[in-house]
Amino acid sequence: MMKIHIFSTGYCKNWERIVVSDGHWRIVKFPSLCALIEHPTRGYILFDTGYSPRVFEAARSWPYRLYTWVTPITCSEEDSAFHAIAKRGIDPHDVATVFLSHFHADHLGGVRDFPHATFVYARSAYDAVKDLRGWKALHRCFLPDLLPNDFSARSRPFDDREPANCPTELTGFPNGYDILGDGSLIAIALPGHAQGQMGLYIPQCHQGPHFLIADSVWRLSTITANAMPHRLARVIIEDYPAFLDTVHRLQSLHHHHPSVRLIPTHDALLSPC
Ligand SMILES: [Zn+2]
Repeated sequence: MMKIHIFSTGYCKNWERIVVSDGHWRIVKFPSLCALIEHPTRGYILFDTGYSPRVFEAARSWPYRLYTWVTPITCSEEDSAFHAIAKRGIDPHDVATVFLSHFHADHLGGVRDFPHATFVYARSAYDAVKDLRGWKALHRCFLPDLLPNDFSARSRPFDDREPANCPTELTGFPNGYDILGDGSLIAIALPGHAQGQMGLYIPQCHQGPHFLIADSVWRLSTITANAMPHRLARVIIEDYPAFLDTVHRLQSLHHHHPSVRLIPTHDALLSPC
């Protein structure tokens, strides 16, 4: 049985109403959550690496500086995934695998803090950004300096251009990619927000089944109350029709499988466990 620890790595501030139609015109905090998954035989797997002060370093030069201007971030060394893991009495160096949902900077902040880990992600997600620099990278919210020089050498991407062939019981998401080969962690495509974005479904979890749904929605109320982002937010959604299709399938999943805990990365209303 798997165990999951969910924690925040700092936050950015933005207009609540831009993010969800049931929000107010006020500035609110949006955390960047990570999940540490404890596998009984394969050790620790980290889902995304959140913010860390490394984001400020990677955004020091022009035009990357605009990234932290547009979404002001609060994150100390203590908030980083590395420290959050250590605070739980777990040695962060024991994290064997880091799963990356997509390559936006708020998911890559701590990548350099895990120099012994293997990185797992959808090939198309990295291919979409790996050669981008300057404005083109910024447009994809990608800060190249967040990745270490040996990133590719330590990567074990899966080919999401091949059909997903690991069946799930989830309505709307019948197939995924079996990450460890034992059916314990199933990567599921969540198109729309960013090229190659993947969520992670954990069917056998001590705290009940979990589906980490990354940035497919920013708030759970998009799924539970159909609260869609403001049209201004569409400029940062890569493929809006695909985003809507993913939301509708998540709504159907939630309706048919209410016991599956859906975890969007930036929902401050969720209580970490
Ligand atoms: Zn994102």
